[in-house]
Amino acid sequence: MEKRFPSIFVSHGAPSMIIEDCPTRDFLRQLGKEIGRPKAIVSVSAHWTTAEPRVTMHPQPPTLYDFSGFPEELYSLTYPAPGDPVLAKRVLTLLNNQGITGEKDMSRGYDHGAWAPLMLMYPEADIPVIQLSIQPHKGTEYHMALGKALQPLRDDGVLIIASGSATHNLRDFFGRSIDSQPPEYVKEFADWLKHSVSEGATDELLDYVNKGPHAIRNHSTPEHFLPLYVAMAGAEKGTVIHDAYTYGVISMMVLSWQ
Ligand code: ZN
Repeated sequence: MEKRFPSIFVSHGAPSMIIEDCPTRDFLRQLGKEIGRPKAIVSVSAHWTTAEPRVTMHPQPPTLYDFSGFPEELYSLTYPAPGDPVLAKRVLTLLNNQGITGEKDMSRGYDHGAWAPLMLMYPEADIPVIQLSIQPHKGTEYHMALGKALQPLRDDGVLIIASGSATHNLRDFFGRSIDSQPPEYVKEFADWLKHSVSEGATDELLDYVNKGPHAIRNHSTPEHFLPLYVAMAGAEKGTVIHDAYTYGVISMMVLSWQ
């Protein structure tokens, strides 16, 4: 039998995480080794938002530098993993089976929400990767349905990586040092999240806007939180496999659903 891969949510942090010495960088390097080598990866990143789902079909997707104001070194990094048009078509079929219509995207490359964690987890960049976009206007239940549709892939050697941020207040990000302590409103939301995921409190999580302490202060826009629901469709209860902060306000939490 094929190995069944987990469904994971990675907080990707600032793109500079790749070149800065921080516990999350070490953790992600180790995580790739621990999970092992999937046949392919489906990445669902906060940095690709579209009105309707889109799936990358490019056979050799370019690396996108969809950020500004970061060290020059980052703009020369590339993640040359091949695409996987056959898997992309299968994802569209799986979505369709759940009544969700998606489209092929022939030109899109890898955004940093996808390639930054992958560069640490699978630095050889030799495992095919496709990206599936998110639809922030459609809410939490819809993104869980996206995740449900992808589940059969996990039995076929495919790793699902949702990439966003457990907390994401960029207004409070600037001016803080990488190792500054999290303020109380950040910690409270992160603690609520950890507890709810471990308990499998699905209804509470789906209503994070009302149930999560300081939800809107931590996520003034939903796109960095919604990928979590795609991964969460993987099992009733999840596990916190990494817990750290950068710049105080950006949680680097990584969650896994087996
Ligand atoms: Zn981001």
